[in-house]
Amino acid sequence: MELNVRQKKIIEIVKENQPITGEDIAKKLGLTRATLRPDLSVLTMSKILDARPRVGYFYVGTKTNEGLLKFLKESPVKDVGSLPIVIAEGKSVYEAIVTLFLEDVGTIYVVKDSYLSGVISRKDLLKTSIGNKDLNTIPVEMVMTRLSHIVYVNEDDSIYEAISKILTYEIDSLPIVTAHDVNKLEVVGRFTKTNISRLLMEFANGN
Ligand code: ADP
Repeated sequence: MELNVRQKKIIEIVKENQPITGEDIAKKLGLTRATLRPDLSVLTMSKILDARPRVGYFYVGTKTNEGLLKFLKESPVKDVGSLPIVIAEGKSVYEAIVTLFLEDVGTIYVVKDSYLSGVISRKDLLKTSIGNKDLNTIPVEMVMTRLSHIVYVNEDDSIYEAISKILTYEIDSLPIVTAHDVNKLEVVGRFTKTNISRLLMEFANGN
């Protein structure tokens, strides 16, 4: 939201004099209370100012929002991601399920010669498990989402970009990779919805 010049002045006045009444803000600006009313409404409705009856206006701030956006756009995703849980091609679906439980994750990345080759999620494993197939005999590469379809982030991409991808593609996690070549993606981390929740909580608590 773009603020007009008068709204910015009001914010400065409130920051320096809070709590301050609408009357007093008007006086400082040499305007009437009525003239200021629309600006004060905009600022309170957008939660930049808080109005308390009989006390006056307080500055709540765009600061928090701006700070969060700046942080999300300027911090690399590798700084906030988790360790990746990987399984090698050739391992069985049964082993993938065991890994999922042991590591307490929802998604496993499949690697071949140390490079990313697939993604296996809970649903992929559930789908394969329906029926009486012997899960020990089915290799993970038969059920995984393959490299050409994998959505990933490079380690220096921003957190903002990673969150956008998770939302756009409706997936739970993204591999964080170091790209050695087009098809040679080394998995160095994972970015998940839990990471996003944690970030928000830390921000809310001012950590
Ligand atoms: P769940 O299986 O718990 O719903 P997801 O929504 O993440 O988890 O997975 C849904 C489908 O998307 C699965 O088939 C999975 O293989 C695939 N998938 C998961 N993560 C990715 C990713 N980063 N890139 C491409 N496909 C993915």
